[in-house]
Amino acid sequence: MYDKNNIFAKIIRKELPAKIIEETNDFLCFEDIAKASPTHWLVVPKTKDRNFSEFVSNNHPETISNFYKFIQNLVKKYNLEEQGYRLITNCGESVGQTVFHFHVHVMSGKKLSSKLA
Ligand code: AMP
Repeated sequence: MYDKNNIFAKIIRKELPAKIIEETNDFLCFEDIAKASPTHWLVVPKTKDRNFSEFVSNNHPETISNFYKFIQNLVKKYNLEEQGYRLITNCGESVGQTVFHFHVHVMSGKKLSSKLA
């Protein structure tokens, strides 16, 4: 079950501070507190979904599409296309998910390893 007091829910409600990159009524992008690359953002929808599967199952196709367009707009606005970037979504504890509010990591700015496993 979705925990409405998870860290990202608190950031969305402005109960916890975060370095916000962009925000709309539906989505938020902020800096990861433990950056693993020079650019390391977390992008979240303001929906109450624990992971990717829930986000896709529980929301209208337009919301899902708009979420990815929001990421694409950020990538363009901050010129990440030229240098390359990586999107990561961990789904489940076994692959490293630690915060159970659906999020996409956007990483860029240095040479990243080709594989993560
Ligand atoms: P994941 O392990 O995929 O669930 O990603 C969770 C991410 O949230 C990690 O990269 C953490 O560094 C990051 N994180 C945890 N707490 C905060 C916070 N208060 N503000 C920003 N990022 C955070």
